[in-house]
Amino acid sequence: MKQIKKLAFVDSESGFPNRNAVLSLLDSRMTSLEEGDLARVNVFKVVCENLQEIEMAFGATVGLDAIKLFGERIRRNMPQGAHLARARRSEFTIVTDNLSNKEKHAFLRSLTSSLKNSIRTNGINLHLEYRIGYTSLHEKIEDPDVFLQRARIASLYARKDHVKFREYNVLIDENTKESLSLLGELRKAIEQERLELYYQPKVLMSDHSVVGAEALARWNHSTRGIIPPGLFIPQAEQCDLIGEITKWALQNAAKQQTQWKEHEAHNQLKVAVNISVFDLVNESFPGFVKKIIDQHELDPSKLELELTESQLMENVDAAKKILNELSDASIILSIDDFGTGYSSLKYLDLLPIDYIKIDQAFVFRLIKDAGSRNIVQAAINLSHSLGIKVVAEGIEDIVTYRMLADMGCDIGQGYFISRPVPVKEFDQFSFNINAPKKA
Ligand code: C2E
Ligand code: MG
Ligand code: MG
Repeated sequence: MKQIKKLAFVDSESGFPNRNAVLSLLDSRMTSLEEGDLARVNVFKVVCENLQEIEMAFGATVGLDAIKLFGERIRRNMPQGAHLARARRSEFTIVTDNLSNKEKHAFLRSLTSSLKNSIRTNGINLHLEYRIGYTSLHEKIEDPDVFLQRARIASLYARKDHVKFREYNVLIDENTKESLSLLGELRKAIEQERLELYYQPKVLMSDHSVVGAEALARWNHSTRGIIPPGLFIPQAEQCDLIGEITKWALQNAAKQQTQWKEHEAHNQLKVAVNISVFDLVNESFPGFVKKIIDQHELDPSKLELELTESQLMENVDAAKKILNELSDASIILSIDDFGTGYSSLKYLDLLPIDYIKIDQAFVFRLIKDAGSRNIVQAAINLSHSLGIKVVAEGIEDIVTYRMLADMGCDIGQGYFISRPVPVKEFDQFSFNINAPKKA
């Protein structure tokens, strides 16, 4: 029992106390202290901004050693009696009990001056970029997480203002507050299974048969209704939540595919899940995907992972190893939103890519704009010459559909065929090119 309790409050990777430990500490302060004394309790967040780059450049072990040393350095500079935790992978939280303003500033000065020096680990000198945001517990709020969020907002402001630290103040941008509170809700929504996957059919253009489905996340919010992914994925990507979303999406798509095994029309469908750049720099990601495939006894060549070109291009070296591992396991890899990244084509040959998905912007302009047609035709020709297949997404009308089919595009996706729909509707769907759904 003791051991279990310990595990719940310790970050297993680094041995530091974890986020639960901070929340429980704040909770106890909130119940035991009067408002006047609470205001003297402070929460500081030290956010390391380049841990991921370090991991990409030198590997996860160096990254972990560096963040541990970074934490140790923070610990050495803390006021007596302060508590330190690694609340997220690249964030430390410090809770101090009874600091005057003067002491608070002295602490920040000594901390920033110590963190200026590089960290040496595994024979490498590393410079960890960081920002500090802090806040006092100036009001009685039931959910202590609010204070962590406030300290985090302040750290974002420090970054925006190019300073090392910032204190939270109530005038801070309402938008940031709103998006961060949404983020807090998102965490709960994942746990409470309020996210749902919608499926959008993909059609083989040579015979118009449905050959796959893209799984797209929707958030069923209790008061706001259905929230599209554009409103929460980018925010989730700014913190560790995106990893949770990927896991959730993969698990649910795999479950769905198991059910489709019994469905005569759908037992050969490829299911595509969108992944994020953070998955591509996470060395345990391929193992996780393979585990899901084994658990659900799936054919790996029926699971497709879509990653956007721009995210891939920014991290091509780190991603290469992980993509190779996934491809070696026969998992299908697609580059999403192709043509919006760096338009560098040489990596197509260097990475184990099976499909490119031409960005919707080109597809929307196809009828009217000869330039877009030329680009799309060139992309199709080049891809085919490399053995890569081409998907066009964003097909909204029959003229565009036929044009792409004539250009040799392999697979089509878009409102002309069907919008993304809940699985029940997807199961009823069949594509008839002469009686399409309305765009
Ligand atoms: P995406 O992967 O490029 O997905 C295609 C988006 O285009 C979808 O938007 C889809 O609804 C929309 N779309 C499809 N056909 C048409 C069309 O004919 N016309 C127009 N105007 N739009 C069309 P959605 O579902 O809002 O998703 C937006 C983006 O959010 C996705 O872009 C993807 O990058 C991301 N996303 C969605 N679900 C997930 C997820 O589970 N994980 C991650 N990491 N990202 C996700
Ligand atoms: Mg996609
Ligand atoms: Mg796309």
